[in-house]
Amino acid sequence: MIDFTFTEEQEMFRKAAREFAETRVAPKVPEMEETGKASEEVVKAMVEAEMTALTIPEEYGGLGLGYTARLIAVEEVSKVSVATGMMLQVFALGIEPILQFGSEEQKKRFLPALAKGERLAGTAVTEATGGSDPTGIRSTYKKDGDDYILNGRKCFITNSHIGDTMTILARDEEDPKAFSTFIMEKGMEGFKATHEENKVGMRGCNTGELAYENCRVPKENLLGAEGKGIRVALGAIGEVGRGGMVGCALGLQAACLEASIKFANERILYGKPISRLQTIQNKLADMKIDLEAGFLLGYRAAAMQDKGERCSNEFAAAKYFTTEAAQRAAKMAVDIHGGYGCMEEYAVSRYLRDSFVLGPSAGTSDIMKVIVARWALS
Ligand SMILES: Cc1cc2nc3c(=O)[nH]c(=O)nc-3n(C[C@H](O)[C@H](O)[C@H](O)COP(=O)(O)OP(=O)(O)OC[C@H]3O[C@@H](n4cnc5c(N)ncnc54)[C@H](O)[C@@H]3O)c2cc1C
Repeated sequence: MIDFTFTEEQEMFRKAAREFAETRVAPKVPEMEETGKASEEVVKAMVEAEMTALTIPEEYGGLGLGYTARLIAVEEVSKVSVATGMMLQVFALGIEPILQFGSEEQKKRFLPALAKGERLAGTAVTEATGGSDPTGIRSTYKKDGDDYILNGRKCFITNSHIGDTMTILARDEEDPKAFSTFIMEKGMEGFKATHEENKVGMRGCNTGELAYENCRVPKENLLGAEGKGIRVALGAIGEVGRGGMVGCALGLQAACLEASIKFANERILYGKPISRLQTIQNKLADMKIDLEAGFLLGYRAAAMQDKGERCSNEFAAAKYFTTEAAQRAAKMAVDIHGGYGCMEEYAVSRYLRDSFVLGPSAGTSDIMKVIVARWALS
């Protein structure tokens, strides 16, 4: 029998995450929209609330709450601020390769500080020459005694400037077919965050470039087997990265629906609320159906993840569906608001801008369809 109910603990956790978002994140949204940067206070609040520790097992100083709880947290935070949901989701994305591929020594070395939020994580694959095609990246490593020397630069990296511990994919200078993943830490000589992007949406989350020039990385920071880095980096993106994007998208869908219902009930035309008009109700129904369907796709994949089952196909489908649905929801929400929807005072204009940034993050919709088609054909 399929059980679609959350546990009591998960319900309590959702309540706590919602309260956190409404009290600690919501007041900072206007500032984040204005500056286009991550708010230091919001990051500090997430650390205080132990949001960095959700997926890390207790033995390494984490909360060990698992992936359903993490999806709940990202969804609730994203209802208030998709940008903050994105930062939060990437903490777990950066941690995951260490959880899955780290040696015991690496786990003991890196995870406790990441759980406490003393250091913040991210994962860097994308480069100007390789986004959808990660094998197009030009970052290189070469062996030098017990160390590796890394050269290159990454673009569009979430938490580039606020993160300290980043997993980075590079290719072997001597064997361009071999890729490896390294744990790189801010403070290593030659490693720095450079350009910071000014995005149209998700403005309160930090996205930017990382550069490393003749950066010496000790062999203890090689993650997983040498030459097997694609699996290390993309495995985490396929399950934890896309799972996180589902949380961001579900939160945004829910926010669009809530704002639309409120406006439609308050806006009086022809002597009655516009929520009584059939065309408006059709839009609300479409938004509600999309939200319910996305919720089932996303939480089913997260439940599989908590059971340790492979779920990258399920998350690809959920990521495609929910991020596309979030764009539809944001467009409908703006439409329902009429002229008011074009004004900055109404959150729906932000939702529309945010919805377009959800698409490429952790893989475009085209790429999700490539994965789902492969799944269907298998
Ligand atoms: C806000 C934000 C945060 C991000 N955070 C990170 C991060 O933390 N770490 C990280 O490594 N990356 C990150 N990215 C990068 C993201 O993963 C890439 O933008 C994404 O993978 C697409 O790559 P691209 O931008 O190079 O587009 P391209 O790969 O150049 O794609 C261009 C177009 O071609 C289409 N296309 C490409 N290949 C195919 C195909 N096989 N079949 C059909 N169509 C195809 C794409 O769908 C798209 O429409 C982030 C991006 C954004 C916008």
